Amino acid sequence: MYDKNKTTKEEICDYWFSRINESEFSVDASEASERCWRCGYKRNLERCHIIPKSLGGKDVPSNYVLICRRCHLENPNVADSDIMWDWLKAYKESFYDTFWINRALEEYEKIYKTKFENDIEPFEKHITSEEAKELINIDMKNLTTHHFGQSYLNSATIAGLMRILIKKLRMEFNIEEK
Ligand SMILES: [Zn+2]
Repeated sequence: MYDKNKTTKEEICDYWFSRINESEFSVDASEASERCWRCGYKRNLERCHIIPKSLGGKDVPSNYVLICRRCHLENPNVADSDIMWDWLKAYKESFYDTFWINRALEEYEKIYKTKFENDIEPFEKHITSEEAKELINIDMKNLTTHHFGQSYLNSATIAGLMRILIKKLRMEFNIEEK
């Protein structure tokens, strides 16, 4: 692939993880070359300018962080480097591989004005969380798609799958919405 930036990912990791406090971020120093510094998922990482090139940002290790494609579509593009670090820290997750599920749970609450855990609670005696996951996985294959160029389901889609599960359970067990 054509690659016009000469700073390597290793240089970026070495530069920052000798300077920043890893406990403030979603990724540990030991995995900073493999996991996204914002969401903490193991993904193909992209070099993301802290200050965009068009605003005078330079091709040097101090002007990059490593984030996944999905986070790269959401990062701030401003001529003040503090803003990038504010953003990364604000999204810190303590556990790996929970970030996007938590975003979907927030999306669910935004749309349905209640937490998914409240909606699933009446069914917890009928269905284990493993069974619920399995049902969601089946629907994921049959009922969803993603935007062109995206290899993931966005938060609204996952929230939708959670809602479809609740609707099915309510029908099956004849439980009305509270
Ligand atoms: Zn990410």
